[in-house]
Amino acid sequence: MKINVTRSSMPDFNEYIEEIAPLWDSRFLTNGGVKHKEFENRLCGYFSCDNVVLFTNGHLALEYIISAYRLKGEIITTPFTFASTTHAIYRCGLTPVFCDIKKDDYTIDPDKIEELITPDTSAIMAVHVYGKMCDTEKINKIAKKHNLKVIYDAAHAFGVKKDGIPSAAYGDASMFSFHATKVFHSIEGGCIATNDGEVAEKLNTAKNFGQIGNADCIVAGGNAKMNEFQAAMGICNLRHIDKEIEKRKTAHDKYVERLSGVEGIIIPAEQKGVEHNYSYFPVVFDGYKLNRDEVIELLAKHDIGARRYFYPLTNEFECYRHLPTAGGEKTPVAYEISRKVLTLPLYAGLSEDEVNEICDIILK
Ligand SMILES: *Cc1c(COP(=O)(O)O)cnc(C)c1O
Repeated sequence: MKINVTRSSMPDFNEYIEEIAPLWDSRFLTNGGVKHKEFENRLCGYFSCDNVVLFTNGHLALEYIISAYRLKGEIITTPFTFASTTHAIYRCGLTPVFCDIKKDDYTIDPDKIEELITPDTSAIMAVHVYGKMCDTEKINKIAKKHNLKVIYDAAHAFGVKKDGIPSAAYGDASMFSFHATKVFHSIEGGCIATNDGEVAEKLNTAKNFGQIGNADCIVAGGNAKMNEFQAAMGICNLRHIDKEIEKRKTAHDKYVERLSGVEGIIIPAEQKGVEHNYSYFPVVFDGYKLNRDEVIELLAKHDIGARRYFYPLTNEFECYRHLPTAGGEKTPVAYEISRKVLTLPLYAGLSEDEVNEICDIILK
């Protein structure tokens, strides 16, 4: 591919080497070493949040927060997400209950949550999809009223702020993914950010086999620890995150300039009071001279990658067909968007010339 849909940000080679060099002396490569501690502290600062618990990836962080809160029964969630969100719920032995999304920003529609609540509902797991913030106030009100936990899959929302408050502050806990393809990464990695100190302590124990001290285990934990090399990459990338997001904005703004106002092309509007991270550039083709799949093919002919993100919906997956809650037709807004949406290439360093080239192909 000449231009791929994404490209990982990297620190300067020597910056990373300098960061990992001390590990050759310490020989302390994982199990909460110096880099792990430093990365955690820096993220607490960045998120303005009391606790950050690092994980080896974002998906396991989701599974561990579900079990740390001892959630049972059903979790109300969105099907317009990456497989991980739904899989985490199911793999913990719970049933995902799929709620439709809003037409304007593709996040879970809070006005459709209450009708899905049953005596078995234990939580709401919403996704700040494409870095668009969920309606946190309404979700919070519903959760309070029905005594439900709120967990945000904030995998797309690193660096996003709403009314000046970092995305990590909302809900009982938020999961961030630091996968190589995300706005911010530690190669693989992720975390739970939470102001709930009790659950943070449980997560720290559970991710290391449930061990306290050297031998005894207080829970049947697994192994989901982040190692020192991941943490070192995270520390390096965090130094440059503001600049990287600024570069993404340049490419994003060029797309908006070229594609907004074109008949049949819908660009989701910016959210009021939200400082965005320009993580993705989703475009909905609705009544354009080419449909979504034709645009993908056309771009592929020019060696340019674009992604049907998200298609199919997770409630259409083969592995969930047996669930009573399955079926894309039950979430019609999400169903329609999934058929029409395309995410165009967007990463730090994608030049304005390249954006122009992509837009020329689509528009001509
Ligand atoms: C990337 C992603 C995850 C999973 O994160 P990993 O770090 O890759 O395990 C979960 N949810 C969403 C919405 C994602 O985009």
